[in-house]
Formats: sequence, structure tokens, C-alpha cells
Amino acid sequence: MTGQNPVFIPGPTNIPDRLRFALSGQTEDHRSPDFVGILAPVLSDLKKVFKTTSGTIITFPASGTGGWEAAVTNTLSPGDKVLAARHGMFSHRWIDLCQRHGLDVEIIECEWGEGAPADLIGQRLAADTRKEIKAVLVTHNETATGVVSDVGAVRRAMDDAAHPAMLYVDAVSSLASMDFRMDEWGVDLAVSGSQKGFMLPTGMAIVGVSRKAMEAVADAQCPRCFFDFRDMAGANAKGGFPYTPPVQLIQGLRKSLDMLLEEGLENVFARHARIAEGVRRAVDAWGLQVCAKEPRLYSDTVTAVLVPAGFNSDTLTNHAYDAYDVSFGVGLGQMAGKAFRIGHLGSLTEVMALSGLATLEMAMKDLDYPIKLGSGVAAAQEYYRSTKSAALSKA
Ligand code: PLP
Repeated sequence: MTGQNPVFIPGPTNIPDRLRFALSGQTEDHRSPDFVGILAPVLSDLKKVFKTTSGTIITFPASGTGGWEAAVTNTLSPGDKVLAARHGMFSHRWIDLCQRHGLDVEIIECEWGEGAPADLIGQRLAADTRKEIKAVLVTHNETATGVVSDVGAVRRAMDDAAHPAMLYVDAVSSLASMDFRMDEWGVDLAVSGSQKGFMLPTGMAIVGVSRKAMEAVADAQCPRCFFDFRDMAGANAKGGFPYTPPVQLIQGLRKSLDMLLEEGLENVFARHARIAEGVRRAVDAWGLQVCAKEPRLYSDTVTAVLVPAGFNSDTLTNHAYDAYDVSFGVGLGQMAGKAFRIGHLGSLTEVMALSGLATLEMAMKDLDYPIKLGSGVAAAQEYYRSTKSAALSKA
């Protein structure tokens, strides 16, 4: 890997130079006034990205999985009932994590390529007259299938059922790339990480915690130490961490927030939507299908593309890497060998996206896929070209 080409995996994402410079700083004393001074504004700017004013942001040195674990262990007890939809590898892994913590997970099995079914969640909650279900888990953006779920609809279903369960949302591959509204959607725990929309290396789990979730911490019996919200929130309030913080990552996060807020969150979302639509038009021009079952489910951060019968998507991603030095996401779980994924999130422009589409065309042609060179690129170009002036006037 030469590092000359962008990656098209759905995280970790390309790190823009501005952030690479910010990350390369010399060690700084994490107890110095300078460092203590940056943490509070970082946490308060993160609230803008989560779209919360009432919630608290807590970060841990961890990946997104650590964020799941922190959310679950701080607010639930072994034996608690949890309701979750399984429709891809990441919703599956979150369920697995809950089960390993001794939670009693009721799983709504969905076809991969579907979203979390708000109607079924509402029905199940309405039937829970004894209010035993403590948590509803939703994966906002299922990175394995390129499917976005309607979190607002899940919240409405919970409210219609007048159910007090808390709403836990995995926003690992959506936050800072696609609209996320923690307060408006009544999300109690929102989990994300540094390596996707924030354009940083992996290493920080970033969790939004509602007041209700913070109150639940006192009664939650799942064992935790490193991930205890109380230790972290208490230390953060004094400008520090309960242990050594990842100083450079927090400095990088400062710059990442500057970049996102300078561009404007709504412009960031619009950029992702435009790039994603161009990618989907390319897929369509190739005559291939995306994994997401309906347009309302299309993710703006990752597109999972089904390969034609008789082809193996791993061969394609391996070949793109070996022959052209470009990484695309492999198919995960049920999608292994059947789908490849085009990550289009984070630090990306439409020109970069076109290079990825052109690479895929060369790789597919090399492997005798029935596609015409340039067909997908042309479809995306046409879309980017014809919508350019509207995008620029909004910038
Ligand atoms: N949730 C989603 C939707 C993801 O895409 C990922 C990783 O890709 C995770 C959770 C797990 O995060 P991590 O790999 O950072 O632990």
C-alpha cells in the first residue's frame, strides 16, 4: 500500500492533512493548563454534532465497540430485557455484546438490507404491559449493508406505546456524516467513534448520554471500571480524565470539530448525500444492485453492492487492492463473497469518489464482469456536474 490513494472502506476513513498535522504534535502534559483548557470546548462542540443541549458527551480511549460496552454496562443490569433488531453484522455484534454481559436480548430478525422495523418495535413494546423491556437498540447506519434506519420513527413508536424503555442508538458510521438528532429523536445513548465521520484514527469512543440515561447509572449493576461514566464525567468536569487521556487524539478532535463546523454540519450532510447519490447512479449504470432494499434505506456513508451470480466480491476487493492499490470494503457475515462496499464518508470529494468508481470499473473489467468501462463514472459525473452549481451556491 503506497498511501497515495484514498481508501474507500467505510472506516477508518481518509485523514485530511490538517488533521494529520494536528495529530503529529509532541507530547503535551495532560495536566497542563493548555490541555485542560481544550477538553471542555471539545466536549461542548461535540454536543453540536450530536444535536443535543441536554445530554452529556463522554469519550473513552476505545473504538466504537468500547462505546457500545460503556453505554450498556453503565445503564443496565444482568438479566435486563433488551429489544434489538438484527439486520447486519454490526447490529449482530452489538446484540452479541449485550448477551455476553448477561442481558436478555429479544431479537427481531430482519432480512439483511432492511432497516430496524419501527412498527414491529412498537408492537412488541405495546405488548410489554409489565414494562420489562429496559432498552431498545437501533443501529442507525448498518455499515455491513449500507442501510439507514429511521430513528425518529422508532422514537415515535416507543412514545405511541407509552413505553419507558430507553433508546440506544449506534451512530458509529453516521455521526458527523449524516443528520443525527439526539434530542429531537429522544435518544438516551448514542454511540460513535473517532475514525469515521470525524476523519481521525481509531481510538476514541464518543458517547452521548441523556439525563435519563445518566440517572440510570446509579442502579445499573453490570460490572464496569475503565468505562464508568461517573469517573469520566467527574474528571471531565475538572478538565481531565480518570487516567491518561489520548492527548493527540483529543487535539485532533479539536481540529476535526473546527473543520466540520467551518464547513457547516448541514453542508457536510449535503456533501455526503451528493457523493452517495453519484455512487448509486454508477452502480445502477453498471447494472448492479445495492443491498439496501428500498431508496428510503440508502445510506449516505456506505453503499453495499451485490455482485452478479458466479462472481466473488472478495476476489474483486483483493484484485482492486493488488492491481490498483485501492481498498474497498469486503462483504461481512452473510454478505461475505456476495457484496463489496464502497465507503464514501469523511474527508471525501466527488472527484475522489470518481477515482474510486473508475478503479472499480478497471478491476471489474479485469475480472470479466459484464460492465462497460466508463459507464458508472459517466453516470456519476453527469450527476455531479449537473448538481454542481446548486452545491457550490450552498457552500
Ligand atoms: N457499529 C458500526 C455501525 C460500525 O460500522 C462499527 C465499525 O465499523 C462498529 C459499530 C464497531 O466499531 P469499532 O470497530 O470502532 O469497534
